[in-house]
Amino acid sequence: MEFIEIRRPDDFHLHVRQGEPMAYWVRASARDFARALIMPNTIPPADSPERVEAYRAAILAAVREDPETAGFTPLMAFKIMPGMGAERVAGLKAAGCLAGKYYPAGATTNSSDGLSSPAAAREALLAMEELGLPLSIHAELPEYFVLDREKAFLPTIERLSRDYPKLRIVIEHLSCAESLEFLRSMPERVCATVTVHHLLYTMDETMGEGLNPHFFCKPCLKTPRDRQALQDAVLSGNPRIFFGSDSAPHALSKKEGPFSLGGPYAPGGVFSAPAALPLLAAFFEEGGMLSRLENFTSAFGAAFYGLPRNSGRLRLVKRDSRVPEEIAGALPMLAGRQLPFDVERKEGA
Ligand SMILES: [Zn+2]
Repeated sequence: MEFIEIRRPDDFHLHVRQGEPMAYWVRASARDFARALIMPNTIPPADSPERVEAYRAAILAAVREDPETAGFTPLMAFKIMPGMGAERVAGLKAAGCLAGKYYPAGATTNSSDGLSSPAAAREALLAMEELGLPLSIHAELPEYFVLDREKAFLPTIERLSRDYPKLRIVIEHLSCAESLEFLRSMPERVCATVTVHHLLYTMDETMGEGLNPHFFCKPCLKTPRDRQALQDAVLSGNPRIFFGSDSAPHALSKKEGPFSLGGPYAPGGVFSAPAALPLLAAFFEEGGMLSRLENFTSAFGAAFYGLPRNSGRLRLVKRDSRVPEEIAGALPMLAGRQLPFDVERKEGA
């Protein structure tokens, strides 16, 4: 096997941030991915049609600067705020939003203004159910022990599924074996995204040798048992599990900041997008399931969101490629390291 050709992939969970580095960070994804669901935990949050439209316009302007990324489509998600009304949700849908994102207050980057419980957003959730807008969830309860936070959130999802019986739900960056068990017990309208870092790594990467803030994320990387369960589920070709990178760049100065001097702690987020596709190709190949890569990256997620599949093609060629050492002040995952596959865009894709 010298290469595998797949339909151009989607990334259904991506952070591209704001300000000057955003253009470089989004182009790092747009070179490989045809579309990505852009997360709304910006400052201020993407919680109104005006803000979502402005954010989309900024992203489009950035990708259009480079012919290689000009065809990229940002899919927008809005942040569900406490007390958000039905009219606002309708306006966000009219502005083209594909999903509303549920951040438990304090669970991750820029989430202190998130929800204390689903009750805080009852009207918005009812409107989303009515309008057919999927609910995307950062499923962690921050008041629990860090390794148990996702598990602790599962009863809330069960309740959401019961209270909103038509609502489609995505458990984002699913990270533990218990959540996979739980997913199997839920109706088919409950799906999950899996990242490449939770699929391939464990806490050993974050702290097994020395402390590595570039592998620190929320939910944090878990145990070998959790990783094995994720790998089995992804290789099984379950159509309710699809790719969302949760690629989340932070400036090197923040990731490696002067904590000892009382500065803020390293924020959670792994900048995985630049290495994602070669790593996924290697993972599926090693698992003897290369033919299932395309469904995971380019079909199941589109089906969940009711989108047509991408028309372009892309080749993953079996030859070494190198992860950039730095992109606009952030270190990609495996910066400077060799990967066993290289991404090649097909002509006209
Ligand atoms: Zn995220």
